[in-house]
Amino acid sequence: MNGIRYFDHAATTSVNENVLKEMLPYFSIEYGNPSSIYSIGRRNRKVIEEARQKVARVINAKPQEIYFTGCGSESDNLAIKGMAYSLKERGNHIITSKIEHHAILNTCKTLEKEGFYITYLNVDKDGLIDLEELREAINKKTILISIMTANNEVGTIEPIKEIGKIAKDNNVYFHTDSVQAIGNMKIDVQEMNIDSLSMSAHKFYGPKGVGALYVRKSVPFSKIQDGGHQEKDKRAGTENVAGIVGLGKAIELSYKNIDEYNKKLTELREYYISQIEKRIPNIKLNGHRINRLPGNVNISFKDVDGGELLLKLDEKGICASTGSACNSGSAEPSHVLTAMGVKPEYLDGSLRITFGEENTKEDVDYLVDNLEKIVKECRT
Ligand SMILES: *Cc1c(COP(=O)(O)O)cnc(C)c1O
Repeated sequence: MNGIRYFDHAATTSVNENVLKEMLPYFSIEYGNPSSIYSIGRRNRKVIEEARQKVARVINAKPQEIYFTGCGSESDNLAIKGMAYSLKERGNHIITSKIEHHAILNTCKTLEKEGFYITYLNVDKDGLIDLEELREAINKKTILISIMTANNEVGTIEPIKEIGKIAKDNNVYFHTDSVQAIGNMKIDVQEMNIDSLSMSAHKFYGPKGVGALYVRKSVPFSKIQDGGHQEKDKRAGTENVAGIVGLGKAIELSYKNIDEYNKKLTELREYYISQIEKRIPNIKLNGHRINRLPGNVNISFKDVDGGELLLKLDEKGICASTGSACNSGSAEPSHVLTAMGVKPEYLDGSLRITFGEENTKEDVDYLVDNLEKIVKECRT
């Protein structure tokens, strides 16, 4: 890939070439509007429904429970606001966590201004929420729990099945932001009692600008955008046919070899961690040691400036991140690491490496060789 070593798959991925191939006709010859009744329109309706089936199959939902959106952020907005507005007669309390993506946190901030009351659960040093604190936070006004499946900055996987059970036992709906999880772990919305789930194609080798939202059939939610009746009247706007075809193909391919893919990424991750531990002193692994996404490693280098580290890595053709891509450039410390109680001397120098399909062990050696030198430079 043009001399670049890419270790930022949690920020975005390249489009798989088979995905791209499947998408291309829908930009040109198959350009019909899926709402039109003539054949090039009807054919596009058909491929959208096929993509819906592929998404439903992977998470064990029904095709009618899948809605296509413009991105993961939109899916989160539609789920949280849609449920909040439609359940507001029943209650105005929502429970989430301090380490959610801003698509959830800022949606909750907006709802606070509109009279909703939000509880932000703490996390422990590994980034896990406390199930007892969750149980205690539920009251008569609670309508929704929103906890991410896996954290984008540190990779920690939350106890989703247990959260789903608590939600069900208390008659509260459960949304989970699975944007990092889909393509990286198996999810079954029945077994895990998930009522609503977000995903985004560009995080699993699909195109940018298309997402999906699952909402259980029995869960009421209102639309947040007015217009035509597309997506069962929940998401107005002519469908992104090529994008939806790409999302469907990408999710299908991701889960075809998921065990093998996870094994490969876990091996790279463990090799990287062991090399860093062996060769660089004064480091701290952020996130849970075991309950974490296979390809995610977040390590803090004591007394190192993360921004400087990234620039020096970039000079060597290495793409990595200090945490959330959406935050880089901002001087504020990560809200995730802060919530996990990471000490000040370890806050600035965090480096998130997220492995993917094209990475090899040789890439990891190149990365560690450079890191060893660069961290030394940054510390002097
Ligand atoms: C990337 C990401 C999002 C946002 O998805 P977009 O498609 O970029 O809007 C939301 N939540 C998490 C956890 C993410 O990693």
